[in-house]
Amino acid sequence: MPNMRMDKNPMPSQDPNVRNKNFEEVALGYTEEQAIDEAQRCLNCPKHPCMDGCPVQISIPEFIQKIVEKDFEGAYQVINRSSSLPAVCGRVCPQERQCESKCIRGIKGEPVAIGRLERFVADWHNKNVTEAPAKPEPNGHKCAVIGCGPSGLACASDLAKKGYEVTIYEALHTPGGVLAYGIPEFRLPKAIVQKEVDGLKALGVKIETNVVIGKSITIDELFDEFGYEAVFVGSGAGLPRFMNIPGENLIGVMSSNEYLTRINLMGAGRGQGFDTPVLKGKNVVVCGGGNTAMDSARTAKRMGAETVTLVYRRSVNELPARAEEVHHAMEEGIDFHVLHNPIEYIGDENGRVKEAILQVMELGEPDASGRRSPVPVEGQTETIPADLVNVAIGVSPNPIIPSTFKGLEISRRGTIVVGEETMQSAVSDVFAGGDIVRGGATVILAMGDGRRAAANMDEYLKGVNP
Ligand code: FAD
Ligand code: SF4
Repeated sequence: MPNMRMDKNPMPSQDPNVRNKNFEEVALGYTEEQAIDEAQRCLNCPKHPCMDGCPVQISIPEFIQKIVEKDFEGAYQVINRSSSLPAVCGRVCPQERQCESKCIRGIKGEPVAIGRLERFVADWHNKNVTEAPAKPEPNGHKCAVIGCGPSGLACASDLAKKGYEVTIYEALHTPGGVLAYGIPEFRLPKAIVQKEVDGLKALGVKIETNVVIGKSITIDELFDEFGYEAVFVGSGAGLPRFMNIPGENLIGVMSSNEYLTRINLMGAGRGQGFDTPVLKGKNVVVCGGGNTAMDSARTAKRMGAETVTLVYRRSVNELPARAEEVHHAMEEGIDFHVLHNPIEYIGDENGRVKEAILQVMELGEPDASGRRSPVPVEGQTETIPADLVNVAIGVSPNPIIPSTFKGLEISRRGTIVVGEETMQSAVSDVFAGGDIVRGGATVILAMGDGRRAAANMDEYLKGVNP
């Protein structure tokens, strides 16, 4: 008999007033008993609508039934058929807009906590299964992967499992892409990312860090001098956008990407042994409503800010961030200043930002995205103190590869155009996926692209070089 309780098992979490002063993971994960109890809420629906909401079509009821049977490794193996990063995706996927939004149990109560169960299964596997996967037989062919974010990690893993000799070239000194430099430790512990990287190395994948393809080595050189037969580009969208408003060049106004990279990757302000500086604001303003904005705001709180104000031009209902992050940010004392938009920053005599002028907004007619568009309320502004401003209003694709390798088709947004199913670019031996193709998107979509590209690179290379 399924468990017909209406609500999800709550996620055990650190107390908000404790966690907003530390960088330890906020959500602590289900116990075995909680996971089994939650799994018993699943009705094992024959038409499994939840799977339609999963971008990589994980066999959701199948893995949940394995949890009910206490076969946690079996559950992991089911997920692993479709997803190579379940410990990451269980933590960061926007499940409320994907699988859980389609779950039948959500009609009269809360949906099954699919994301929390995925995380439980992945953590159980990581804790209990220690043997390294067998190294595949080499097939005599070699491929290069550019960028070590989720798309590159997933592509390299699948290629290596097929026997390819794979090298990942990563511009930064640490692998992981946004998982390492963007998403903070309190949401995604770096040990989880490291575990994925170690797994890749165990498969024989080489990772060359501090190599900027297009500068240190060109793609042409990868083919002509290094002898790669195909290349996957997973170089992401790490170029922050700004609003181009007066005062944006003042000291103390920076992109969230820069702020988070300094703190997450370079350890700025996190104690002894790190040289990178970072400004610590007393009154921090964060502009934007996505995951990056939430991460910035919650990080600023942990860095000791007295007030952290999140400024967003639409209402709470339109916030694009994951629902859980919004909920956690509110619990941690972030002040949500919705229906406001910055129009100017004012500096002090030293050129450092001291105030933000905000335009009051209201919601008008729906725009092309279907969301009601924000409209300024004439004559109504507000000035708030701001000695540190983080701008998190979106990102653009990293431009180095598109601008240094000829023959690619580049969209007006600067993304690489590829075949939707094949991930093959206009240059037949170059494939691409993740944010460099989609613009800023999600981890699961980037990972799915990487896996699809690996399958098609294999097909392609078997055709040209059997
Ligand atoms: P990336 O993760 O950006 O990795 C690209 C890698 O390529 C980087 O390591 C970069 O250094 C490297 N690179 C770039 N150019 C070169 C070059 N020329 N040579 C060599 N290497 C290069 N998504 C979610 O699903 N859930 C979330 O909760 C979430 N939160 C986020 C929070 C933040 C702060 C940010 C910034 C993004 C968040 N996202 C989230 C989005 C998600 O992280 C991205 O969609 C995803 O990481 C894209 O993966 P990718 O592999 O395409 O690129
Ligand atoms: Fe289980 Fe919900 Fe999927 Fe039905 S829709 S199989 S209840 S997770």
